Amino acid sequence: MDNESQTNTVRLDLSSQNQQKVLRSFKHQIDTLSQFILRLSKFYDGVNPLLDKELQVLRGHLGGKVNFTLAEVSIGKLTGLLMDNADHSRQQNAKFQALLEDAIQQLRETPDVPQALKEDSQQFLQTIRQSYASIYTGQAYLEKVLSLYQRALAESPATQGNKITKPSSDQDEQRLHQQLVCELRELVLQLSGASKDEELQEIRQRLDHGLQRSELLECCLVIVRCLLKDVLKDRKQAERFITSLHSTLNNVSQAVGRSLKDSQAAYQIKVQSNQQLRQHLQGIELAVGEAHDLSLLKQQACDYLSKIASTLDSRERADKEEQLVLMNLLRDMKDQLTLLEKEASEYKQKLLQQKYHSHHDPLTQIPNRYAYNDRVELEYRRWRRYGTDLSLALVDVDHFKGINDKYGHAGGDKTLQVIAQQIAKCLRSTDFLARWGGEEFVILFPQTPIAELDSVLEKIRQQIEKIPFKFKEQAVSITVSLGAAGFSREDDVDTVFERADRALYEAKHQGRNRCIISKG
Ligand code: GH3
Ligand code: MG
Ligand code: MG
Repeated sequence: MDNESQTNTVRLDLSSQNQQKVLRSFKHQIDTLSQFILRLSKFYDGVNPLLDKELQVLRGHLGGKVNFTLAEVSIGKLTGLLMDNADHSRQQNAKFQALLEDAIQQLRETPDVPQALKEDSQQFLQTIRQSYASIYTGQAYLEKVLSLYQRALAESPATQGNKITKPSSDQDEQRLHQQLVCELRELVLQLSGASKDEELQEIRQRLDHGLQRSELLECCLVIVRCLLKDVLKDRKQAERFITSLHSTLNNVSQAVGRSLKDSQAAYQIKVQSNQQLRQHLQGIELAVGEAHDLSLLKQQACDYLSKIASTLDSRERADKEEQLVLMNLLRDMKDQLTLLEKEASEYKQKLLQQKYHSHHDPLTQIPNRYAYNDRVELEYRRWRRYGTDLSLALVDVDHFKGINDKYGHAGGDKTLQVIAQQIAKCLRSTDFLARWGGEEFVILFPQTPIAELDSVLEKIRQQIEKIPFKFKEQAVSITVSLGAAGFSREDDVDTVFERADRALYEAKHQGRNRCIISKG
């Protein structure tokens, strides 16, 4: 081969390489374009059924092996449809804009909406009117309108009122329901301590497993019935005791009456026998005075002496009889009084037990709210009279509801028992701890100035935090919050309690597991 033909072959090779390159790049562009059209077509999905159908056709032509000729036909149809749709969209957008404007206008005209919010709404209304709510801006506008309405709900008093009353009435009901269930549990616990009533035991189990609102009334009825049964039983017992006391007193009184009569009769007999003895002695005296004959006198003296002996005998018999009757009577009375004493001591025991139950919390065995009411009155009077310091603290278990929810009511109950014991261990014998209710405790610190309270409250807090609670093999840390206040000049029991409660609230608010002492 000559040089020229060699050069042509090289050029030909080169041009076919170029063509391939161009073709490859062309194919790549077509693929990219097809993909882009496919992706773009998704944007119109669901706008209207006709478009959907035609887009489906277009995707068929562009997906896999691209058929541009058919795709071109489809694109032509789609262009027409999109132009129709653009008109429709414009109408829709105009409607949407009018709706937004109305919504803002209404907000501005609502009486209780704060002025600042009205001004913001006005400004936004102008922005909307000056522009056009398109499919792209509409969403942002809608978001803005919604945020204005949210602000109105949060800031305006009327809507705020509505907002709070509606959902919070539900919350209130829920809280009330829980409170009722807790109080019923305490009541049932208190009642079932004394009674073995099966119905009551069943209610207790049902309360432990959570109770529907509809079941509350039925439970209350059962509890009232048991209470009534208990009251009637107590009344019967009291009646029995009083009847027994009455009959014993009656018996004793009759016996004493009989014994009095017997004694009077015995006294008469004694008087008579004394007279007889005196007569016999006078007889002897007379016989001695008139005696001329010793043997006659001897005879007379013997007669009188045997009469005296016989009188003395019968007198001794009477004495013995009287003694016997008296002894029997005394034994009888003693037996009756012993019986009465036994009944009285049983009754007293029962009354003491009742007093204990009515003043102690059955779960933790520490004094309850009634006991606290009695004690605080007493300490208050002492404080007024002697002017020594008196302080009061409230202890509330943190997130206790969560403990119940996670570990069940039985777990919650055990927690309360342990916490009550732990608090008691931190106190002096003169301090007074009571369960105020639920997971709250109240402590009275007589003769304790508020300045000294810090250390004891902190000790309680730390000791409880340190308790190694374990539920289902899992270590759990439980904490309490404390609020305290001291009695000062103008105070009464309620005002100090309220201050301590506010301090407790503050302790909760600041993050719980802390003590706050009211400075008021
Ligand atoms: P906070 O830290 O704010 O005090 O929250 P909390 O969950 O402790 O307070 P909340 O008042 O929400 O819940 C108290 C719970 O205590 C609700 C009630 O079911 C429960 N509870 C009250 N009495 C008893 C009881 O005798 N035994 C048990 N297990 N739970 C009780
Ligand atoms: Mg509480
Ligand atoms: Mg609590």
